[in-house]
Amino acid sequence: MVKLVRLDSLKCGEVGFEVFLSMSAELLRSGYVSSAIVVDESGKIVNNGELCDVLRRLGCVKAPVISQGEITRHPNITLEELGFYEDINPEPMRVFKDTVELLYRNWPTPLARLSHLSTKSLSVWGKLEWYNPYSCSIKDRIAWYMLRDAVSRLGGVERLRAIYEATSTNTGLALAALSNVAGVKARLYLPSTAQQCVDYIFRLMGAEVVRGRASITVEMIDDVKKDALRDGALNLNQFENDRNFEVHLRYTAKELDLQVRSAGLRLAAIVGGLGTSGHLSALSHYFKNRYGDHVKIIGVQPARGEVIPGIRRVESGMKWVHLVKIDKIYEVTLKEALEEVINTARKDGILVGLSSGAVLRAVSNAVEEEVVSEGDVVAVLPDHGLKYIEIIEKCVEYQDF
Ligand code: PLP
Repeated sequence: MVKLVRLDSLKCGEVGFEVFLSMSAELLRSGYVSSAIVVDESGKIVNNGELCDVLRRLGCVKAPVISQGEITRHPNITLEELGFYEDINPEPMRVFKDTVELLYRNWPTPLARLSHLSTKSLSVWGKLEWYNPYSCSIKDRIAWYMLRDAVSRLGGVERLRAIYEATSTNTGLALAALSNVAGVKARLYLPSTAQQCVDYIFRLMGAEVVRGRASITVEMIDDVKKDALRDGALNLNQFENDRNFEVHLRYTAKELDLQVRSAGLRLAAIVGGLGTSGHLSALSHYFKNRYGDHVKIIGVQPARGEVIPGIRRVESGMKWVHLVKIDKIYEVTLKEALEEVINTARKDGILVGLSSGAVLRAVSNAVEEEVVSEGDVVAVLPDHGLKYIEIIEKCVEYQDF
């Protein structure tokens, strides 16, 4: 007989990312598990261990198990029965035992309707990722998850010497904070285009700053890898580390799913910026598989020659965007992004960051071109506008806003 046991009582191995991707797609599509993990008398997994790992990485609490020798027909157990949504577990009274708990027990980040972009037939919702505690951005999630995974592989935080990472700002901020919590040094490699004030903030946090090439390129990422190898430091490498994609699949996507359901929204599209491509690719994997291709996934990249902090052009090298379906990618200039920052501030009263401005401009473009015409659109807004004072100052100096 199939029993449901706690997943943390099972010792799963780890399947490769491609297997994880195809098995998780199947589970999200069907919404249920149709086979069981086979264990021997001592509880050791002897068959179907892949399922154990995929359920664990999706954040299920329980797994279906049968004893070796028993015959089972397809059990068809729903993901809900396996505690799929229990992972989103906010602390109701908002009392946190440490600052790290402030991160993962303070989710979901808010979803707020933006009146200035909404009409009678279409509502635009901003998912406000600056409600994360360390970097005040969407990157807290990945820094926490990549570091937690690396520490568990190393066999304890005592084995960690230092963290080296290339960052446009936000991942660096989150890693500077988390390395302080862990008691290790962080060295952060910034592109020369990042605001000057970021150096001061990183140094204030106790991190070392290295200014590098004009933008984060494959070469810069490789340089950081080499430095880390030379110095025995940990390079989490957000650009290639699959935990980046996985944390957004397990938390960002799942909590958005719960928010959409609880508000009774008719999700027509999700719009997001592309930096590493982690969050938008994971949202595509989740929502396209779980709800179908009618949920449009729209990406945003800077127009050629433009610099918008946090987002990059696809050809500068991204991993996950090529493994999922993105329906359309809009190009946005810094001026257009800033215009939308101003628009949002003056009409809805919130000062969003520049990549958020770019995302909201892409929403306007998609509505104008009737890529979406009714229902609900979610715009993922990675961070807040107060972070970009130097850039905003320059833009305001040169143009009459
Ligand atoms: N916007 C900002 C401000 C960011 O910092 C980032 C990532 O660094 C992004 C957008 C893009 O997010 P992702 O790396 O998940 O593609």
